[in-house]
Amino acid sequence: MEKKDYLRSLSSVNDLIQAVYRSRLMGSKAIPRELVTEASRTVLDGIREAILAARDEMALEEISTDTEELVSLVEKVVEEKLQMSFRRVINATGIVIHTNLGRSLLSRPALEALATAGAHYNNLEFRLEDGARGSRQEHLRGLLCDLTGAESALVVNNNAAAVLLALTTHAKGREVIVSRGQLIEIGGSFRLPEVMAQSGARLVEVGTTNKTYLEDYRRAITSETAMLMRAHPSNYRITGFTAEVGIKELAGLAGEYGLVVLDDLGSGVYVDLSEHGMQYEPTIRRSLEDGADLVCFSGDKLLGGPQAGIVLGRSDLVEAMARHPLARALRVDKLTVAALEATLRQYLDPSRALKEIPTLAMLTTDPETLRKRARLLAKKISSGGAFEAEVVEDVSRAGGGALPMEDLPTWTVTVTSTSMKTSALEEALRKADPPVICRVREDRVIMDMRTVSDEEAELIASAFNELAGMAST
Ligand SMILES: *Cc1c(COP(=O)(O)O)cnc(C)c1O
Repeated sequence: MEKKDYLRSLSSVNDLIQAVYRSRLMGSKAIPRELVTEASRTVLDGIREAILAARDEMALEEISTDTEELVSLVEKVVEEKLQMSFRRVINATGIVIHTNLGRSLLSRPALEALATAGAHYNNLEFRLEDGARGSRQEHLRGLLCDLTGAESALVVNNNAAAVLLALTTHAKGREVIVSRGQLIEIGGSFRLPEVMAQSGARLVEVGTTNKTYLEDYRRAITSETAMLMRAHPSNYRITGFTAEVGIKELAGLAGEYGLVVLDDLGSGVYVDLSEHGMQYEPTIRRSLEDGADLVCFSGDKLLGGPQAGIVLGRSDLVEAMARHPLARALRVDKLTVAALEATLRQYLDPSRALKEIPTLAMLTTDPETLRKRARLLAKKISSGGAFEAEVVEDVSRAGGGALPMEDLPTWTVTVTSTSMKTSALEEALRKADPPVICRVREDRVIMDMRTVSDEEAELIASAFNELAGMAST
């Protein structure tokens, strides 16, 4: 056959569309006609190009013009178009607050509040007492103050926004003193010196990377100084010979000169996790009690709520931030208000919060539970015969710049296969539905049970089952 015969044997767009609609797969779904038409054109164009580009008879023979096969190509294109880009995944990395995988999972009450807020009108900025216009902050302010002992509170889009707003409101055109050991970069895009530059405040670095003393701050104070800032060195620790100045001392010094102390806590722990076998992290309340004028932290790290930046502190300072024109651009949306209020209400009973807020529950799951989950999953994966699964003790990380040095004892399922390379297995899992994201180490796929629910372990088992079927055919 010659090229023109191949081209002639190709279905017309209309015939292909008809054939697609007759096919079993498509017949069961309501697919927009436009999508099928476009996909059919794309597929036919592709085949035509391939025919024209074919160098010889052999290459031509490899191109199928069979309508059945074209139909399945169209179906594939349509499926890809209909697939959501933003999807759920299974986090088998064991990193609880994984920024690339969406940080904290929301609790039941937060999810319910979110659904209600999305489905109905609400009193976001409407006072039910007198019918007057209200502020969205009113749903959160009182609760935040009750929980932390703060005088006032403001919630913005995220913690980067909180830091920016605090600096620009209180230190624009003036100096902010920060220890060299705290000039942090988080997740690539939050670099303290750059946020500082954006705010219009001038950064004054003091001390050295590993040691900074109160005297370093004192010597740097000039008539231009507005603020002393501490930033939590979220994702790293300086160990060995170190010296850091605490909030209490900073607050004492700031008091002498009438300066503002800003404490960027990053993760912001509410419940003291050292009572649960983890290292001590300064709690939000402690920072305020030690004398920080402004404290800010993320809503979706250790707090376990939605993305938000929470600012607590002195009324006059917080209110000035709320009135700043930038506050409007950084404000939280109604879905955040809903989910955050619901999450915060759970903290009214801290021991329940620990069990019912997923981030905290996952961090404090006892290893025996993880071991049982690992055993069950390993058994299911091994039973197919295609994979070898083992239960291995390991450590997991909190993530999200929280508790960076904390090794949380955990149990993992590690998998190898005789018929599949580890990298291919990792990729196949990542492309499963839902995708399974795991670690690879020493030529093994490793799945940490800390961040996998029992229901998700079932889904992982099915993903392996399907892979086993594919590997044997
Ligand atoms: C995470 C973090 C931020 C940024 O918070 P986002 O909520 O991600 O904007 C700022 N400062 C510190 C110390 C952090 O750990």
